[in-house]
Amino acid sequence: MQRRRFLQGSAGLASSVALGACVSSSQSSSGKLHTGLTVQMPPLKRIEARPDRIITMNVCTRPFRAQGPRIELEKAGAKSIVHNYGHGGSGWSLSWGTAVLAESLVAEAMNKEVAVIGCGAIGLTTAIQCQRAGYKVKIYAKERPPYVRSSFATGIWSPDSRIVDLAHADSFAQKWEMMARISFRRYQTLLGLTGTPVEWTTIFRASDTPFSETGHYEAKGEPAYPTFERDLIGDITPRSWDIPAHMNPFPVRYVRRYPLLMFNISEYSRVLMSEFIQNGGEIVTRELTSPSDFANFDENTLVNCTGYGARALLGDDSITPVRGQTCKLIPQPEVKYGIQYFNKHVSVYPRRDGLLVQAGGDHDFGNPAANIDPEESLSAVARLADFIAAMKTV
Ligand SMILES: Cc1cc2nc3c(=O)[nH]c(=O)nc-3n(C[C@H](O)[C@H](O)[C@H](O)COP(=O)(O)OP(=O)(O)OC[C@H]3O[C@@H](n4cnc5c(N)ncnc54)[C@H](O)[C@@H]3O)c2cc1C
Repeated sequence: MQRRRFLQGSAGLASSVALGACVSSSQSSSGKLHTGLTVQMPPLKRIEARPDRIITMNVCTRPFRAQGPRIELEKAGAKSIVHNYGHGGSGWSLSWGTAVLAESLVAEAMNKEVAVIGCGAIGLTTAIQCQRAGYKVKIYAKERPPYVRSSFATGIWSPDSRIVDLAHADSFAQKWEMMARISFRRYQTLLGLTGTPVEWTTIFRASDTPFSETGHYEAKGEPAYPTFERDLIGDITPRSWDIPAHMNPFPVRYVRRYPLLMFNISEYSRVLMSEFIQNGGEIVTRELTSPSDFANFDENTLVNCTGYGARALLGDDSITPVRGQTCKLIPQPEVKYGIQYFNKHVSVYPRRDGLLVQAGGDHDFGNPAANIDPEESLSAVARLADFIAAMKTV
């Protein structure tokens, strides 16, 4: 029965960008929801989408595995190695849940001292989770924030973004749901903090065609993905609603508004690093070049959170690189909404550390190239500028 539901999932970009990710309220043309609530458009401050406002461009590689992330215990001589890598486009979103699963495997190893290898979204949360469970934890990593791949992610709740392909959805569904629910709950405890590491924002998803007919964005060469967020955790995902034509300031016919959980990655990484250090943790710079390096650690329990790095370190070809380029525009604190316009391969998010503009396209899946292509971001900003220039009420 589960399988039948997943088979309705979208091909193309992960379902977090599929329209089914949010539950839509039924609504009359007046903008009045049938629940009795009236839809109102908030005032929209103009996004200054100009090339001269670009302050940084970055490339990140999603570590996608068709079968889902590798979360398992391996014994190698005296060492217990807990693997926790391969979280595709969902690493930030699922981090706390996967940390809980990894920590349960650490418990099986029965050593009080733990080495976490990797200091990205997965390594930091796994390390903190282990500390909270009473372990003495050291992080060993080649890089640390703000220079890990996780630092260059979009920073939104996207728990089923390229996390598993449709063919493997059934066997992974239960684990995914557990991770998503744990993470979502944990993120709500990070709201309202100084520096706003995590917040809820508003996103407008714009489409040239009716949402019910297309439902998703398709990229060439990608497998089909399940729509886990819609199918398994619709009860915790806030509602979206369609903007009626007379209230729609955007230059496309179909616009859906929904609340989005957003991670301000600069501040959030700092919060994670600080908590880890305050709990007595230590971060050591160390690069591993082969699996035999695991034997050189003092600790007998190691947690491998090397993300895309695991492909080279372990020779694990099950990890497929999925490239993603973003740029940031000078922060505009007055802008309190984002836009996703997947027909034109562009989206913008109102992060505190800069308006984050994401490009995207057919060349990303299977692409390990880590070089920045300035033209890609310049063209994304130009498409965004055109969209904003054509808006009615900003
Ligand atoms: C463009 C883009 C946007 C994204 N947006 C989102 C989003 O909005 N929400 C979301 O949930 N996810 C998003 N993701 C996915 C998310 O970024 C990844 O799933 C996540 O970064 C994986 O984290 P990680 O800790 O496993 O890997 P990393 O961040 O790569 O960390 C790996 C760590 O291991 C270390 N390491 C690696 N190899 C070695 C070695 N040989 N020796 C020693 N240390 C090593 C590295 O130095 C680093 O410290 C996005 C990805 C991309 C590309």
